[in-house]
Amino acid sequence: MAKKYVPEPFRIKMVETIKMLTREEREQKIEEAKYNMFNLKGEDVYIDLLTDSGTNAMSQEQWAGVMVGDEAYAGGKSYFKLLDTARDIFDYKYIQPVHQGRAAEKVLFGILMGEGKYAISNMFFDTTRAHVELTGARAIDCVVEEAKKPEVRAPFKGNMDVEKLEKLINEYGPEKIALVVMTVTNNSAGGQPVSIENMRKTAAVCKKYGIRMNIDAARYAENAYFIKRREEGYADKSIKEIVKEMFSYGDMFTMSAKKDTIVNMGGLIGVKDDEKLFQDVKGRTISFEGFITYGGLSGRDLECLAIGLNEGIDESYLEYRNGQMEYLASRLDDAGIAYQAPVGGHGLFIDAKKMFPHIPYYEFPGQALAIELYKEAGIRTCDIGSYMLGNDPDTGEQLQASFEFTRLAIPRRVYTQAHFDVMADALIAIKERAKDVKGYKITWEPPILRHFQASLEPLDK
Ligand SMILES: *Cc1c(COP(=O)(O)O)cnc(C)c1O
Repeated sequence: MAKKYVPEPFRIKMVETIKMLTREEREQKIEEAKYNMFNLKGEDVYIDLLTDSGTNAMSQEQWAGVMVGDEAYAGGKSYFKLLDTARDIFDYKYIQPVHQGRAAEKVLFGILMGEGKYAISNMFFDTTRAHVELTGARAIDCVVEEAKKPEVRAPFKGNMDVEKLEKLINEYGPEKIALVVMTVTNNSAGGQPVSIENMRKTAAVCKKYGIRMNIDAARYAENAYFIKRREEGYADKSIKEIVKEMFSYGDMFTMSAKKDTIVNMGGLIGVKDDEKLFQDVKGRTISFEGFITYGGLSGRDLECLAIGLNEGIDESYLEYRNGQMEYLASRLDDAGIAYQAPVGGHGLFIDAKKMFPHIPYYEFPGQALAIELYKEAGIRTCDIGSYMLGNDPDTGEQLQASFEFTRLAIPRRVYTQAHFDVMADALIAIKERAKDVKGYKITWEPPILRHFQASLEPLDK
């Protein structure tokens, strides 16, 4: 039976009209978009689940903050408000705003690594991996095995495989490991959380070998909520206390504030106490982002970010947000639709391989389901599978991904229970006609990051 939907802990004061095109119109639009979700116009989408990044709804306090943001080039009030708030939550001495998560990576990683070095993570997000490799270093994933099995329910599928981590350190040599990156929640594994115990153990291994740990903290609040719900000894702690403990295990953090901080643009770098490192961060921020007291953002962005940091760790908000995910997941359980289980923090990752066993990986089941969802109900999602993975750079052959997911990423404070029912009903309708759904072939693709731009064609043509 479907779980009870946790009611919104807010009421709606401003609305944005959305409309559903007719099925014929949708079929025409997706054909014109060459079956690529990124080519669709936003206004032709009814429910937009392409990403939860920067698509969040701000509160009345944040919109009021837009008006009082201090636009001084240097030393604005909003900057100091942001520092005070971030220091209070994370307990790090040094905080640097930047324009988004990848800017934090670009500024920080260029200081810490280069040719011949390695960085190891429970799983690198794609821009994080790119910024490791742009320095000349190599990125290695080291997630626990259960993360790779969508049907295996475990409380902390985002965890680092600590034993394997120590093995890798010894194999490459501790002096070659520039950084360990702990991604919370583990985005690429389906928004799966990392336990406090795992963070503590990972930090202990790092300390043993003199390696520093960076927290990739885009979804730190959702991770803390999972710890409170699932980890022994944390049920009575506040989210803020849990966040403080999580960050106590890191030496620094990079953060995309477009996720749990509930703004549309922004990012942060935090350094716990290394003054020399922070001096370098400030120097590179000025070169790449702008002066240190605005870091590539407007004063009003800094103001909203400061407010969002506190709203993001509000427990009633997190309970409602997680409740949305669980409601949708329970409707899919009832219908026998498989997904990365248990449901993650920011979205539902449907197992498209299970839904379309007749579509091989090189005909892109995850993309086929994304296209069906648009045709069925105007819902925009994306493929997280072989279509996204691309070709082997040496042989040019299509690689096979470990998963064939279609991701429904849920924007924060944007959609209501009726929208979630539209999502579930659409998936159920597609499942009923799953055997008639065909695969796709690529008719044009750029050499890198092809999924953003490629053209496709259905194979029944
Ligand atoms: C989104 C994200 C990033 C990159 O942040 P942007 O704000 O998109 O540049 C880095 N790491 C993780 C885990 C993310 O989810």
